[in-house]
Amino acid sequence: MKRAGETVEQSGLYKVSHQRHRANHEAVLWEGETFPSCRSCGDSTTFVFVQPVPESDEFEHIGYDSDFLDSVLAGWEKDCTRLLA
Ligand SMILES: [Zn+2]
Repeated sequence: MKRAGETVEQSGLYKVSHQRHRANHEAVLWEGETFPSCRSCGDSTTFVFVQPVPESDEFEHIGYDSDFLDSVLAGWEKDCTRLLA
C-alpha cells in the first residue's frame, strides 16, 4: 500500500481509498510520478496496485479527477522547475 507523497514505482491501475468523503475508485498512475494528495483527505489517501495499465479507455489518469487535479498539477510544476534549474 502506498500513500500520497510516495513515488510511483510501477505504472498501472491503482485502487484509491479515501477517508469517508467518497467511495474507493480506481485511477491510472505512471511510474516516476508522485502519488497525489486528495483535496479532501490530504495525505491520508492510500493507493494499492491493481494491474498494469489496461488498454481500454475506461480508466483515466488520476490528474483528471477533480479531487487530485491541484496536487497533480503542483507535482508537474515542481518537475518543470527542477528540469529548468
Ligand atoms: Zn479524498
